Amino acid sequence: MKGGPILPGSLVNGQPATLGVMGGGQLGRMFVQAAQRMGYFTAVLDPDPASPAGLVSHHHIQTGYLDEQGLAQLMQRSAAITTEFENVPAPALRTLGAQRPVAPAADAVAIAQDRAQEKAHFTRCGVPVAPYAVIETPEQLAAVKDELLPGIVKTTRLGYDGKGQIRVKTRAELAAAWDELKHVPCVLEKMLPLKLECSVIVARGWDGACVNFPVQRNLHRDGILAVTEVYEGNLPPALAEQAVAATKSIANGLQYVGVLCVEFFVLQDDTLIVNEMAPRPHNSGHYTLDACDQSQFDLQVRTLAGLPLVQPRAYGPSIMLNLLGDVWLAFNNAPPWDQVLALPGTHLHLYGKLDAKPGRKMGHLNITGSTVDEVRTTALAAAKLLDIEPF
Ligand code: ATP
Ligand code: MG
Repeated sequence: MKGGPILPGSLVNGQPATLGVMGGGQLGRMFVQAAQRMGYFTAVLDPDPASPAGLVSHHHIQTGYLDEQGLAQLMQRSAAITTEFENVPAPALRTLGAQRPVAPAADAVAIAQDRAQEKAHFTRCGVPVAPYAVIETPEQLAAVKDELLPGIVKTTRLGYDGKGQIRVKTRAELAAAWDELKHVPCVLEKMLPLKLECSVIVARGWDGACVNFPVQRNLHRDGILAVTEVYEGNLPPALAEQAVAATKSIANGLQYVGVLCVEFFVLQDDTLIVNEMAPRPHNSGHYTLDACDQSQFDLQVRTLAGLPLVQPRAYGPSIMLNLLGDVWLAFNNAPPWDQVLALPGTHLHLYGKLDAKPGRKMGHLNITGSTVDEVRTTALAAAKLLDIEPF
């Protein structure tokens, strides 16, 4: 990193070393908490006065992401700046990047923000993607090949948690879906026979050093991550190795600096297909907070500050259950946390959101233990207490 690392607890231009983050959601909150634990001050830019990260940060700049004064204040406060969601406008990151170290860089974030560009990058890196077509014009819509149906129409930009996606079986449904999405640029992806889903999180430093967490096996429900299971044997070892190698080549190909998550599909015939990437820590990596010697947020701090990267180690098997607003709604806003926490090896993380809605990510529960059986038994017991479907 130019000018050397930003050491924790040091003074930078007479101010306590401060790390800044664009976005104040739960990912920003967990980044802030990791940075503070190491002795950094933190600054968050997010317009929402009650944002999860803003609530716990030393500084909270409450402006829009393109507000010039807000960006100037963030730069003035921060020795280096990261981002916690991929929809932060790339131009804002470019403005910041002209004056401060910014990781990940605007160019990498811009690619991850666009499904068409992202798929082209994966292909360049030699990692297979689902068969797809880009739909930006009526001509492209008409030229779609029948073999892509049934498929999923996905907006190229601004989708998350299955939003901006419509499943289609026929050409008529495809045309109707594109109408419904108001003719914004989309991709049509062939619907694939999934055996399972997994993801890999890597952290890559300014010097190109790259470390990885173990492969996460993920269960999605209604397009939203529900459960992540991490232990040896969660995936055939050859596939796990292949997924880690693919993720590293995707990160290297971007000259990426920071934490990157790549999501994969494993098909019925064990083919590995890359789905998408997130230029930041990821929901499927929340288990690292309790199950690993360094969390994904610790590594985000290290990459941003230019500190050494050491390969993280998992202490043992773990499972993460996502806690969606549905849990609150099922229990009249008072889920039985006391009963859940009576189970050994449970670690509760709530994000400080007061307003529960169906599908809204309110927190997660990590379960650790010494054997896979023990962890699964506890996770299923916790799920039962919380009215979460068994898995
Ligand atoms: P997020 O950003 O929250 O991970 P997203 O809205 O970007 O989600 P995707 O990851 O593209 O959405 O898709 C969500 C889920 O839908 C996938 O995890 C998978 O379960 C299913 N899905 C997506 N694309 C396909 C496909 N081509 N074939 C089969 N299933 C798919
Ligand atoms: Mg996804």
